[in-house]
Formats: sequence, C-alpha cells, structure tokens
Amino acid sequence: MAATETEDVPAIPKFLMDCSAKDVALNWLQATDLNKDMYQHLAYYVPKIYCRGSNPNPLHEEMLAQHLLLGPMEWYLCGEDPAVGIRKLEKANKSSQLCGRVFKIGEPTYSCRDCAVDPTCVLCMECFLASMHRAHRYRMTTSGGGGFCDCGDTEAWKQGPYCLKHKPTVLGAMEEDPLVHLSEDMIGRAYEIFAIAFKYAVDMLTWVEEDRLPAGLEPLEKEDTYYCMLFNDEVHTYEQVIYTLQKAVNCTQKEAVSFATTVDRDGRRSVRYGDFQFCEQAKTVIVRNTSRQTKPLKVQVMHSSVVAHQNFAIKVLIWLSQVIGYSGGLRRILCEVGLQQRSDEDSSSLVDRLMLCDSKLWKGARNIYHQLFMSSLLMDLKSKKLFAVRFAKNYERLQTDYVNDDHDREFSVTELSVQIFTVPSLARMLITDENLMTTIIQTFMELLMRQRDSHGRFQFERYTAVQTLKFRRVQSFIGDLKYVLVSKPTEWTDKLREKFLEGFGVFLELLKRMQGMDPVTRQVGQHIEMEPEWEAAFSLQMKLTHIISMIQEWCASDERVLIEAYRKCLIVLLQCHNGPCDGEQPITLSMCGHTLESVQYRVSQHQVSIHLPVSRLFSGLHVLLSKTEVAYKFPELLPLSELSPPLLIEHPLHCMVLCAQVHAGMWRRNGFSLVNQVYYYHNVKCRVEMYDKDLIMLQAGASMMDPNHFLMIMLCRFELYHIFNSPDYGKRFNSEHTNKDALQQNNTLIEEMLHLIMMVVGERYTAGVGQVSAEDELKREIIHQLCIRPMAHSELVKALPEDENKETGMEKVIESVASFKKPGLTGRGLYELKPECAKEFNVFFYHYSRADQSKAEEAQRKLRKQNGEDMALPPPVLPHFCPLFASLVNILQSDVFVYILRTVLQWIVEPNGHAWTESMLQRVLHLIGMALNEEKQQMESASADSDVTFNFTSKFSCPGEAPENTPSILAMLENLQNSPHLEVYKDMIKWILKLFGIVKKMRERSNSAPIVETEGHGIEECSRDKDKADRKRKAEIARLRREKILAQMSEMQRHFIDENRELFQQTLEELEASSSTVTDNSPIVPDAALIALGPRQTRVFEEKQVVTCILCQEEQEIRMNNKAMVLASFVQRSTVLSKNRTRTFQDPENHDPLFMPPDLACGTHIGSCGHIMHAHCWQSYFDAVQAKEQRRQQRLRVHTSYDVENGEFLCPLCECLSNTVIPLLPSPRNPLISDSSKNNAGVPVLSSWLKRTLQQVKVLKKIQEKHTDNLSNTHLEGMEVSEGFQPDVKPKNPFSESIKGMLTTLATAAYKVGLKVHPNEQDPRVPMMCRGSCAYTVQAIESFLADEEKPLFGHLPCRQDDCLKALTRFAASQWTVSSLSVVQKQYARLLSVLIPVDDKTQISPSILDVDMFHLLVSLVLSYPALHCQDFTGVSLAVGHLHLFHLVTTAHIVQILLTSSTEENTMDQENADGDEEAAALTLYDKLRQYSGSALNSMTSGWHLWQYIKTGIIPYLRCSALFFHYLNNVPAPVELQENGPHHFELLCRYLSLPTNLMSLFKTESDTIEPLIQRWCGVAEVQSFVKGERTAISYPREPNKLIELPDDYSCLINRASCFTCPKSGGDKSRAPTLCLVCGGMLCSQSYCCQTELEGEDVGACTAHTYTCGCGVGIFLRVRESQILFLAGKTKGCFYPPPYLDDYGETDQGLRRGNPLHLCKERYRKLQKLWQQHSITEEIGHAQEANQTLVGFDWQHL
Ligand SMILES: [Zn+2]
Ligand SMILES: [Zn+2]
Ligand SMILES: [Zn+2]
Ligand SMILES: [Zn+2]
Ligand SMILES: [Zn+2]
Ligand SMILES: [Zn+2]
Ligand SMILES: [Zn+2]
Repeated sequence: MAATETEDVPAIPKFLMDCSAKDVALNWLQATDLNKDMYQHLAYYVPKIYCRGSNPNPLHEEMLAQHLLLGPMEWYLCGEDPAVGIRKLEKANKSSQLCGRVFKIGEPTYSCRDCAVDPTCVLCMECFLASMHRAHRYRMTTSGGGGFCDCGDTEAWKQGPYCLKHKPTVLGAMEEDPLVHLSEDMIGRAYEIFAIAFKYAVDMLTWVEEDRLPAGLEPLEKEDTYYCMLFNDEVHTYEQVIYTLQKAVNCTQKEAVSFATTVDRDGRRSVRYGDFQFCEQAKTVIVRNTSRQTKPLKVQVMHSSVVAHQNFAIKVLIWLSQVIGYSGGLRRILCEVGLQQRSDEDSSSLVDRLMLCDSKLWKGARNIYHQLFMSSLLMDLKSKKLFAVRFAKNYERLQTDYVNDDHDREFSVTELSVQIFTVPSLARMLITDENLMTTIIQTFMELLMRQRDSHGRFQFERYTAVQTLKFRRVQSFIGDLKYVLVSKPTEWTDKLREKFLEGFGVFLELLKRMQGMDPVTRQVGQHIEMEPEWEAAFSLQMKLTHIISMIQEWCASDERVLIEAYRKCLIVLLQCHNGPCDGEQPITLSMCGHTLESVQYRVSQHQVSIHLPVSRLFSGLHVLLSKTEVAYKFPELLPLSELSPPLLIEHPLHCMVLCAQVHAGMWRRNGFSLVNQVYYYHNVKCRVEMYDKDLIMLQAGASMMDPNHFLMIMLCRFELYHIFNSPDYGKRFNSEHTNKDALQQNNTLIEEMLHLIMMVVGERYTAGVGQVSAEDELKREIIHQLCIRPMAHSELVKALPEDENKETGMEKVIESVASFKKPGLTGRGLYELKPECAKEFNVFFYHYSRADQSKAEEAQRKLRKQNGEDMALPPPVLPHFCPLFASLVNILQSDVFVYILRTVLQWIVEPNGHAWTESMLQRVLHLIGMALNEEKQQMESASADSDVTFNFTSKFSCPGEAPENTPSILAMLENLQNSPHLEVYKDMIKWILKLFGIVKKMRERSNSAPIVETEGHGIEECSRDKDKADRKRKAEIARLRREKILAQMSEMQRHFIDENRELFQQTLEELEASSSTVTDNSPIVPDAALIALGPRQTRVFEEKQVVTCILCQEEQEIRMNNKAMVLASFVQRSTVLSKNRTRTFQDPENHDPLFMPPDLACGTHIGSCGHIMHAHCWQSYFDAVQAKEQRRQQRLRVHTSYDVENGEFLCPLCECLSNTVIPLLPSPRNPLISDSSKNNAGVPVLSSWLKRTLQQVKVLKKIQEKHTDNLSNTHLEGMEVSEGFQPDVKPKNPFSESIKGMLTTLATAAYKVGLKVHPNEQDPRVPMMCRGSCAYTVQAIESFLADEEKPLFGHLPCRQDDCLKALTRFAASQWTVSSLSVVQKQYARLLSVLIPVDDKTQISPSILDVDMFHLLVSLVLSYPALHCQDFTGVSLAVGHLHLFHLVTTAHIVQILLTSSTEENTMDQENADGDEEAAALTLYDKLRQYSGSALNSMTSGWHLWQYIKTGIIPYLRCSALFFHYLNNVPAPVELQENGPHHFELLCRYLSLPTNLMSLFKTESDTIEPLIQRWCGVAEVQSFVKGERTAISYPREPNKLIELPDDYSCLINRASCFTCPKSGGDKSRAPTLCLVCGGMLCSQSYCCQTELEGEDVGACTAHTYTCGCGVGIFLRVRESQILFLAGKTKGCFYPPPYLDDYGETDQGLRRGNPLHLCKERYRKLQKLWQQHSITEEIGHAQEANQTLVGFDWQHL
C-alpha cells in the first residue's frame, strides 16, 4: 500500500508553540537587515509547519502559520498587539466608496438597462437592493465567478452610481490621499514588511526549480522527502485522471476521486509523499498512462520544502489582501510596493512578474493573486490607473501566453481586461498614451497571420478540436477591443484622433486580409469532393460584426475623424480591387439607346467571395457621411470625386448575384457549405455588416450613376442581358424541347433581379439613406416581424440584430405598434400588431426569408379578407431619400426599367405557359406601384409652381418604341385585369389603375385644370360607392360577428382541450362509447334517503354495461362469466400524502404492509387513462411490444421511454405510460337482495354480531393451528361453533378464468411495485397490497379534491371516476383468487386492533399507530372471506355497517387523544348541545383510562369542533369508498359545495348525525373497548409526552412555498455549499419542491451509490423523498426537473415569468422573474394527481433525445 495510507498526525512539537509572536516582532523591529532576519525565520519555520506528510493537516498548518509566521508580521506591522492595532486601523479608515465585492460562482449580479454605461457594469445583490436601479428595468444574471461589484464607480453608471451603503459622506472624499490616516511609523513599517512579504510570495510562486530554494531560504538540514505533484489541465477528463491515479499510486477509487476533485479545483495536488525514487516512480506511471493520445498530464516531483514555501506564499497573499481590507492607507502602500519598478535584475515590478508568469502558475495560485489584484490595485483609483498602464504594456505578451496556455480564460490574468478597459477614462487614456487599440489589433493579426493564402488573405484550415480551442482563445481579443470601444468618446482631442485613426488603419489591414477570403467557384459536372471549410471565416466575421459597428459609431461622433477614415478606407478598397481578377474582358452593352463599356465577368464561371468587409465598412462610412451637415451643404468637400461608382458596386453585386444563383439552384454541386454561407449572409447575426451593407453599396453606387447604366450592369451580372436583349425570348420557349432547368433558373434569376431593383429603390429605412431615425428603422423591423404572426418578446429580440441597446430601444417603439396579450397557463405573452400598422406592410421587405415572406403574405391576405378589404398588398408609401441618395428614384422612370417591365408583361399577355411566373408578375406590379407612389408623393409635396420632374405615368401609358407597336403598360394591365387565370392579382391591378387615375388627375390639375372638378367627380363617385359600400359594410359586420362567435367557440374549445388534455381524450372516448355504456344514474329514490351501506342501503339495480375495446373495436358486456375487459393503468409508489419523508422501509422482503401508519409515509397509488381493452387483446398487444422492444434494444441499443422488462407499456390509444391493467367488474351482488329475504329475524346489534364474528375467528384460528401442527384432520372438539358457520365450505369463484387471471395480474403488480420486490402470486402480502392501494388511492383523490375546494362527487374527470370504480371492485373481489385462510387470518389481525385479544403471540399496533381509513377498507374488503362461510342469514351489509361504526368510534377516540390539548382561543359559537356534552364526557373517560396525563378540558364545544373537523376527511374517504363499492349514487348536495356536508355525509354513510350517540347506544360494548385502547403502553407514553403522534385532520400536502422574486432563490442557491466537499460552492444547486431541500446536483462530489449504481444527488434524493419520483427546480437554469426512477426524466417550464409573460430557461435573457401562482398551482396539481411519471412519459415520447439522457447522474 502506498504512502497515501492515513498516518497518524504527529502532535505539535512543543518548541513550536513556545515561540512568541511578540518576541519575534520585537527582534525584527530592532533588526538592521529585516529582510535577512525574516527570511531566516521563514527558512526555519515554514518547512516545520507545512508539508509534514502525505496527508496535509490544514487545520494544524493554519493554526501554526498564524501563530509563528503571520502573527509576528501582524505584530511588526502594528507595532503593538494586533488585536488592538487592527481595531485602531479600522476605526481610522474611511470606508471606500467602491463596493468591489468579488463575485463567487453562481452569485446573482444585477445590471440596469436604463443606467449602466455598458452591460458589464453590475451590482451585487446587497448594493442593488439599496440602489435606485431597483425600480428601473434591470437585468439579472448569475456570475461565472470573478469580476466585482461596480457600485461606487461613477464611470459605470449614467446615474445613481452609489447605493445607500456606499454613498460618500463627504464630497470629494474620493480624491483624498488615504495615507493621511496613518502615522509616519506605521507607514514606514508597512512599506518594509509589505515589500519583504510580497517579494517573498512572488519569488516562491514563480520559482521553477524542484529541488532547490531561493537564496536565504535553504534550510540548514535537508530531509529526503518529496512530493509527487499532479497538475490540472483542460485536456484530460475526470475519468482519465481517476483511472490513472488508481493505477499510479495504488489508491482506492474514492481517494482518486478526491485527488481529481482537488486538482480540478486548486490546479494541483500532491498524490504521493516519500523519498525521491518513490515519487519519481509514480510520476513515470502517470506520464506513461496519459501520453497516448494527448500530451501527458503534468507531474512534478518536488522537494517538500519547496512545496511548503509555495503553500505559505499563497497564505501570505491571502494575508495581504486581508490586511489591506482594514485600511485604505495600507492598500495604497501595498499597491505602491507592488508597482514599484525594481532597480535590480530586469527592472520589472512585482506585479509585472506575477502577471508575466500567469500562464505558468497553477490554478489555485492564479486565483489567489487575481483576487489580491482585484482587492488592491483595482480598488484604489490611483493605482488602478498605473496598473492599467502596466497591463497595457504587457498586453501582447500576456495574450500570447494565454493563447498558448490550456486553461480557460476565467483562470487567466487577461480576464482582468474587462475591469480595466471598460472604464471609459482608462480606455481613452490607454488608447492615447499606450496606443492600446493598435496593440490589440496588431497582436490579434499576428496570431492569425500564419493562416494566409497566396494573396495574403486569411485562409483557415479545417477545424480540429485543438484549433477550435485556439481560435476561440484568439477571439478573446475581439472581446477586449469591444471593451475598449464600448463607450464612444464625448470629446475628441487631437491625440485621440491620431491614435484612433492609427488603430483604424491597422483594423483596415485586418479587414483587407478578410476581403475576398474563402472564394468559391461554381462546380459544374460533378459534385465537389469535400465540403470546403467556411465556419472559421464566418465566425471571425460574426465576432467582428460588433466591432465594425462600434468603429463606425466612433467615426460618426467626429466629422474630421469620419472624413479621414473614409479616405483611408477608400484607399484600401482601391488596393483590394487592384488584385488579380478573373475574366476581365471589356464588352459593350447597349439597350434602349443607352450604351456602356463594362467588363465581361460571370459569377457562374469566375471566383467569387462572400466576404467583403472593406467594401462594407466603406458603405457604412458613406451612409454616415450622408447624414452629416457637410453632405447636405457642401457635398463638394467630400472625396466623392475619387469614387468610381461601377467599381464600388461590382463586388457587392457579385454577392447578390451569387445568392440569386444559389436560390435558382445553379450551385447545387457546391454542397452545403455554400448554402450555409448564403444563409448566414442574410441571417440576423451577420446581415448588418454583410447583406445590408452590400445593398447600401449598391444604392450608393447607383445613386452616382446613370440609372440606365446601372440597370444594364445588373442585367449583365445576373446573366440576363441576352434574354432581355432578344425580343423573341418568350416565344422561344413555346417549343416542346425546352430545357426546363435552364428556363426555371432564368425565371428565378429574373424574379431575384426584380426584387433587387425594388430593394435598391425602396429600402430607405437606414438613417443616412432615407430621412428616417433609428427609431423608425426599428419600428419597421418590428412591424414586419409582427406581420408574420404575433410574437413573444424574446422572439422579437432574436429577430433583431444583436445590439446591447436594441432591446431597450425596442421597448420604446413596441408599444406604438403592438398590443400585448397576456399568457395563459401555458404558452407565453404575445405582441400583436395594431391594425393601423398593417398599411406599412411591404410584402417584399428585404429582411424576410422566403419562408417569412410567404407566411407574412398569407397572414396579411387573410387579415384583409377578414376585414372585408380587397386582396391587393400594395407597396407602402416610403420616406424621402437623403440628398446623397436622392437620385435613386430615377431608376423608376428610366428607359431600361420601363423596358424591363414591359418585356415581362408582354410575356404574360401573350401567354405561352413557360417564360413567366406569377412571382414575376407580382414583382412587376409591385414595382409599378412603387413608381406610381413615388410620383404621387412628389406631386403632393411639390409646391404650386415647381415642376415635378419625376414622370412615370407618361411612360406608363405610352406604347413601346421597339419592337414596333408593342402596347403600353397601361394597355397590357387593362388587358390582364380580365384574364381569368390571374384572379389573385386582380385587386392589385385594380389598385394600380386607380392610382394611375389619381396621379393623372393630379398632373392634369397641376397643369391647369381647376381643382373643384376632380374633387366633385370624386365626391359623386364616392356617394355612389358609398351606398354600395354601406350595404357591403353591414353585410360584412354581420359576417364578422358570426365569424367571431365561431372563432371564439373554437378558441374556447381549443383552450379547453389544452387545459384538460386528459379529460378531453376521455370525453372523446365517452362520446364513442356513450351509445353502449349505460350510466347508472337513474335511481328513483329521493336524494335525501340515499344510504351507501348497511342493512338500510339504498337498492340499486345496475343495468348492463357494454363497453368497446380500443384495440379490436368490438363491444362487450361486462359480466362475471364473460371475457375480461381491462383498463390500462399505472401503479406507482407515492409519498404525496406523506407526513414523514424521512421514514422509508428498509427491508422490503420483510416489510409487513397490513397496517398503514397514520403518517402515510409511503403508499401505493393506482391511476388510469381510462382506456378499455379486452384482456386478451391487451395481452397480445403487450407481447408484441415486448418482442419488438427486445429486438430493437439488441439491435440498436436505444432506450425507450418505457421499461418493457418491468412490464411497462404505453396505452395504445393515448400513449399514457402504464404498467398493468385493472379488470372491469360488474357491480357486486347487492347484499340485501341476496340475503335478507329469508331471514326476518331482524338485524343483530353490535354486541351480538361482534360476539359471533369473534367466535368465528376463534374457530378458524383453531383449525389453522391444528393444520400447522399437522394434527389429524379433525373435528372441532371443545369449540363452541356458532350455528350456521361452516368452515369447511369452500365458496365457488363466480368469475370467468379470464377475469380471475386479470385479478391476479393487477394484484401481483400492486405487490411488486408497491413493495419493490420480485413478483410472487402466492405471497400472503398480495391481498394486503391490493386493499392498501385501493385505500391510498381513494385518500389521494379525496385530499386533492379537498385542496382544490371541489365537492366530493361529480367533479372527478371520467378517467379517475372509472379508475376508482374499477379499482374498488377489484379490491373487493381480489380475495376470491387468494387463499381463503390467508385472508381470514389477516381479517383476524386487522380486527385485533379494535378488539384486543389476549394473545401474546400477536401484537397489534395501538390505535395511535394505525390509519383508520386504511383499517376500515382492509376490514370491509377482507370480511367476505369470513362471511362466505356464514350461513346464518345475516347479511354482509350488517357486517360492513358494524365494522364501519367500530372503526369510526376508534377514529373519534384517536382524534380526541391527539387533539392539541391546549385550550385554544377559538370563540365558542353557541351553547353546549348534546354532542358537546357527550364529547366532554368521552374526553374525561379517555383521561381517566389513559392514566390522567391528558390535559383537562372544560369546553365540550371545543372538543366537538376537533372531532368534527378531524373526522371530515375520513368521512369523505369513506363516502367515496362505499359509493364505488356499493354503487349507490351520491346525493346531489354532495355534488356541490355547501355548508351541511357533515350531516349529509353522516346520513349517506348510515351514521347517526349525532356522532357521539355511537358511544351511547352500545356503551356496554364500546366502553370496555375504549378502556383497553387507552390502556396500552403506547398510548400511555404518548399522553405523557414521551412520543409523538399524528393529529387530525392531516393538512393536505403542498409543494413548498416559493418566493415571488426569483433572485431570492438565486441568492439562496449561491450561498448553498456542497455538503460533501467542505464549503465549496455547488455548481448546480437544485431545490426539491416537495420538501424544500437544496441539493448539489450533477456533480461528482455528491454522487452516491444506490442499488449498486452511482447516482447523482437528485436521483438519490427521490428515493427517500418521493419513492423514486421527484420534482425539482434547477436554480441556475431556472428550469423544473421531473425525475422518476433512474432512467426517466424531463425538463418542464418553470413557474417564473418575466414581465413579457415568458419563462427564461437557462436564465439567458436575465429579465426579472416573478412567480406565476397559477402555473405553480398547475405544477402542484400534477404532483398531487400522481401525474409526474405520466408527464415524463409524454415528454419523452415527444422528444426522443430525452430518452437517452443521463438522468441518473443529476
Ligand atoms: Zn456591491
Ligand atoms: Zn454599494
Ligand atoms: Zn438604473
Ligand atoms: Zn379487443
Ligand atoms: Zn389511454
Ligand atoms: Zn425532497
Ligand atoms: Zn457536491
């Protein structure tokens, strides 16, 4: 065995304790060379305290270190007893205005959406609650650890930077020098001791030698003891490390797990201690075992003294941060010590040295010194600035180290960048003084430089895991750049301009390397062999998107910068075009009399790239310029003349054409990588800096060109030029042998091109392109999203480009365009477009995907139809262009444009079926509409005398020139209007013609005609129209009303279905079956007289029941001798009613379930979906399922949501999880009818019945004893056999074989599942479990109804009603398939609780320890086994009644005994009546019998109230039970809520309304019983207070109370530590909603073994808390978790909603969440109704990935 074996911890040597801190410190105070003295002290003591063996003893070490090492340092620092000195320091200290609380993992953090300067500004919970932001719109997240509270940082908040606690008392206190509060002496000592201690710590932590110590620390004598240290890496898994350690150091798995956990947490751990050889050997094994695929685990053999000093060095750092916490002055001193440049060596400061060694340190050391930095350098404003400079100077080196290191960023010092760079003043200072922007970009470029192609562009290789990791690391630069740029400068200095532009220049270099990367060439002939890499480039683009946007924002904030940046960008853009380009042969284009020189370039043949960041940045800057005053007033000052418009549009146009060709299917052979690229190009994540900017570039270019030329270039690039140039194109496709593919391609390309023209002219909602604000832009986006369908807040957010402030901006506009609809019990809140906004809908909105477009079109057409409007979706009226873009409108009146329209229309007018599509027509109509809109708008806004130059209408109505005699567009439209095959577009054409008329009139009017005439005409037309319209409107209103009612109805119905899914399925089923099933609700008896049991029981004649099998669809009557019909059902164990979750039965094999304890700790519940099958149909179905699953599991090793091996299956109709079936039985023969007729001797009273039944029991017992004693088969000598009792008679089983089989099946299932044992039909506990599960299920349903405040009868869903009926009849009949003597024996034992027998061998529980309802059910249901041998003519009903009365009296006694015996303050309502007096009498008797220890009570009224409230649940359960047992309908009053239920229940149950009279009428019999009940030891000890007992009524169980504010839970969870790993924060704190326990889920530390398997904390918890079923809240994820057994689980939406009515699973959105009581109630209902397992089943069926999930480790 290795040295890891526990050794005895050596006692602390006395000489160590004798050393006094004070003496040491006094010596130091005298010392001439303090450094030397202190080092000597450390050299001697440190190895004596730390690392004294294989198992470090942290408590000892801690104590000794404080005593011997830190103590003296504190003494020295204070110059007196530190206990006094430190208190003085604290007193003198002015508390800092910065909170600076460092966040732990999982701690909640808050940011204010209104006031935070950027999203990284956060508050801790304490500060948040005391701040003004509490009332603002805040955002809540959980910290990933690291980072600190920004409370008090004035630069972090636009307002309210301080919480109440951190509000400065004196103004200007921030600037005060903190040293003024310290004495000169103190300052001197602090400098000295800090300098030595800090240097010591840095020396030791950065020490790399394994066997030697720095000068001055070498011990005098050196032992031969070493450690084998194992270091953490991010490559090897937990499992690998554990496995390796077991091999290498011979430890147990448990120890290995503990080693691995520590290594993961602290970054290193000694795994072996001993001499050098011994340690070296372990190292070799570890390295050998882990070097196979990856680089080996890092292991070092280190001398114990080195390890000791390193451990103490960490302690010193912790000590330092503790000490500076006492005083701002000390903090300042430490910062100065740390930042001081050294004169020796390389002149770097201690802080520098630590930083530069960061990637070499282990995790634990890093964490400690990062924390020290945060609490010192970052908390002191002066030092923060100095530190920021050091950080920036070291930036390149730190980042390079980080990229090559394998630790996550959270463990890297580079992560501090967020703390520094996000402070605007620091960032600005670092940009101007340290040229930070340039540094970051350059470092970034250098790291990416390796990956370049021959043109110097980036070229990324195929991703491997390692590269992905590296690449991700490299991208952290982008994060830093983002921090630096996050707040725009409010003031520019020349220096800032200079440095920013320098950085901008470098950034352009970066973009230049991206321009044209990953070029593609169209694949013809065969498919590409390998998908080219594209993801890296796109992920780079995505990450840079924000940066590019931010840089533009910076530029926009200063005109000089903007113009200069524009110039720089243009230069680089021109350089990009100088590169080699394919196929540039000049050609001449001419059309409609316009001629143009261009180049021959074909996207379908030459290289094309989707990456054009330089062009796009340029177009972004162009738009910004367009917004400036210069552009409006002196455009000549802009460098516009240097632009070559055809050049500008070339590349963006290629991109657009590429997308069009991909849509047209021309690039199919290029595989998915291209499809993906095109997808992302348009996607909301990228489009802002890709697609959108390309469009702007086209707009910019086109605005500077002759529109005819622009359109010709477009035609040419779309490769459509020849088509439009050959007038007979349309006719050519008439022939049969047309190339259909080519035709379709061309059609799509034409559609795409028309769309592009629309966008170039029509997309004006970018500030700078059109005269709009950013708000208008956003509004339009939202309107168009909501035109598709109503959306939730989060969906809208997702559909908008990611911009930190977008969401806030969105809220401003959303109210104006949408109305909010609150969510129901499921689903989420939705925003619905306001009707008046629909007119802004543009079906060709450029951000719609094709799917969006068709959905939106359909939705809007439907809406218009509903509103009785026409079906035209005309283009909306557009805002005006900005001056720079104003000339774009001319496209709409250009010759080529009109030519294109006319050509397409001509194809349509001369239909030949092929050369045109409806989409083309739709687009052409849309374009015409746009042109007319434009003209109308210009006419309207033109002042009286100015001439409107825009004139589309003249060209519209004028016939074409060439080819000769082509009709005008107007003529063609008029023609088309009557075309039968264009029904859909008729309204649109009508709209166009109407608009044309209006515009024409406007033109005429402006030319001369008086206004009145047209107006008059208009009015006349109007009045005619009005009449028609009026009638139409009325008809429409009527129709709408009808439709609304219908819609409401179907809505209600759907809602109803959603809410009551299971019920609905049931109703369907019922509708089908209603014709055959006869319900038994036709008694002629008056309600008041309905009696459910006993000799006076109401007679019910059950009519025959016919049901249909869901499998074979055959009908069958339910009869005893027929084939069995069964209900699919599910048996499960349950703790839903439990009053004691800590108790589980440990030994299922020997557990005796005869009596249910009153805490109902664990019961068996049986439920059903209510679906009926033939037993044999079910059996063959189940066999088939079983066979199929076994084959499937063998073949595919997949799991199913149900466990066939355990008898589970899904209901064939509703897929409800089931594991057995309940047979349907006819109503039991009415006991009255069968028996009472022959015997009129009257009903025996209790005493005589009791006497007889006891006698019978005794006889049976004798027989059995003889039987077991194997005596002769005997006569009952000496026994007084009561007359008519024939123990030899074996009753004949009335049921068919098939029914008997099913009785056994269910009985065995209840036994197997309920007890968790192997099935055994013969086990005597089988009948007990059947009766028990019947009783438990009744109780569960009663409790649920009570909790829901629903009446007892008439409100159960049919499935539950059917289930209870079948279950009760089953339980009543099950004895017929059990051994008679077994049941008889059980009956005797049950009875002995009430009638104690003097038998020492049989010990019955006291009445305090039995649940009376269970007892009642068991007695009633086992009594027939005795009664069947009784031929005296006394009916079964008599027995039932007496049993019921007996149990009821016992229950009353039970209630009184356990009632809270203090007189309570309830006000007495009326004077004592009979009951009250009787209750008092009874109570006094109980006192007397139980040894007078019971408190005395004087108020009979109070006692009677106890009884009445205590007994109600029992009476309700009994009523349900007898109702189902005897089939007596329930009185109507019990089917609704009402005040008199107590009396009604008593009557229905054949009890006297004065319950207390039960005790009087048969007092001779009852009295002695009471005496014996109270006399037993258990009762005696209870009344003496020696034990507890359940009191009545038992409160219904509920799920735990949850706080309204979700952050309370997060906070609670962040305080929760793992119960197993000593104070560590749990990573996945999970709350059990049943008992309120917090668990450490999904983690190695808390795994336990359960039935031979490792399970996580949640699974383990379910076994004790919920019998295997659990319902949890995963706090960090805000997610409900359902678990059932080890393999079943699912997630479920949490009951917490944000203000938008949405849940936030995973807490990604961070909006404040509040408890939704209704949803929580629904969750609780699921649990109370035992539907958790069912819910999991449905979830798993719906989503197969849930099946394979590793639930058991949660
Ligand atoms: Zn705080
Ligand atoms: Zn604060
Ligand atoms: Zn705020
Ligand atoms: Zn069937
Ligand atoms: Zn079903
Ligand atoms: Zn629990
Ligand atoms: Zn744990």
